[in-house]
Amino acid sequence: MTLINDTSLQAMVDTATAVFREHFEHDPAVLAIAPGRVNLIGEHTDYNDGFVFPMAIERQAVLVASVNNSGRCRLVAADLDNEMASFTIEGIAPSKGHWSTYIKGVVAQFLDNGHPVPGFDAVLTSNVPLGGGLSSSAAIEVCTATMIEQFLGIQIDPKRKALWCQKAEHDYAGVPCGIMDQFISALGEKDHALLIDCRSQDTEQFPLDDPNIEVLITNSNFKHSLDGGEYAERRSQCEAAAKVLGVKFLRDATMDQLVAARDQMDDVTFRRARHVISENDRTQRAADALRRANYAEFGRLMVESHHSLRDDFEVSVPEIDTLVELACEVDGVYGSRITGGGFGGCTVTLVKTEAAQTVIDHVMAGYRDKHGVEATCFTTHAGPGARGTHLG
Ligand code: ADP
Ligand code: MG
Repeated sequence: MTLINDTSLQAMVDTATAVFREHFEHDPAVLAIAPGRVNLIGEHTDYNDGFVFPMAIERQAVLVASVNNSGRCRLVAADLDNEMASFTIEGIAPSKGHWSTYIKGVVAQFLDNGHPVPGFDAVLTSNVPLGGGLSSSAAIEVCTATMIEQFLGIQIDPKRKALWCQKAEHDYAGVPCGIMDQFISALGEKDHALLIDCRSQDTEQFPLDDPNIEVLITNSNFKHSLDGGEYAERRSQCEAAAKVLGVKFLRDATMDQLVAARDQMDDVTFRRARHVISENDRTQRAADALRRANYAEFGRLMVESHHSLRDDFEVSVPEIDTLVELACEVDGVYGSRITGGGFGGCTVTLVKTEAAQTVIDHVMAGYRDKHGVEATCFTTHAGPGARGTHLG
């Protein structure tokens, strides 16, 4: 298995290794890599026990490291002016809001599951855009778990490993996330998207390997200031709808049931449920369309998903709507939608490779004209999941 699949990744490893040598005065013994992700379709379905359909992106967190057997961990963040952090394995505790908490959280899961972790020195670098909804945090967590596997010479079942990383995010970052981010970072396969059933935790790989197709990610570089209540509010609206429909989760409800119960709930609750039920169906149909290499169908479902998130779930914003509309104006675009939790962040667009640059130019210019903000764009294929190796 080749761990390093492109030159920018090699450059990251080289940088991290140089920083490691400078700080610790020897070569690192272990390399671990774990990707960020983009969700192609299946938004706000996870906490309704439904389906999500992400792929790993060709952007990743990288750790180079060595065991130091001191009971102490010394960390360097190469992207933050080589900021250092250190902690002892004994009495490990969260440092919420600090980047080291993601690493600590994963160490704690290994300890809690009976795997003593030795002290170690590590340098972290990542090119997953930070805070853009592409899960730079999960990339760090899964990268850390992969590094520890190398230290211990063990391989944890990837789903188990992902669940430990999810727990790190809950307990050490204080973010009550679902299973998607850590699952795709741990289980991602090159040239595949991963359908995840958030109820059973079953996963299925679907080929996304056509060299004539690319996934374009556009960061609006815009985040509405929220009071944090929007996510909780959406969740409780979904619970309320499920209760009226007499099901445990909206995953279990059909559109016919919902329509029949329309006069038993207010309009907002109805629309929230309509999004979740339709999105769950779209996600499974999108996976099927990909199996048939029917990109036109996949793209239509993406646009439907966007409209549903905009009109029924109400988690889009004008900036994001502009990005989607501009992308869809260009020939060679199959579809585009908001991705991630909403209220800003990124869009994901399925596009013919030959049209990608035209789309980028068109979207960036139109977005600048309308909102006075620079969008950032990059294209990616479905990349591999986490991997680690001993160096030298
Ligand atoms: P997302 O996961 O959507 O990118 P989060 O807020 O969950 O956003 O995670 C971002 C946090 O992850 C940052 O605040 C920082 O603590 C940490 N992080 C991400 N990338 C890096 C990096 N390259 N170096 C150090 N810390 C990072
Ligand atoms: Mg995150």
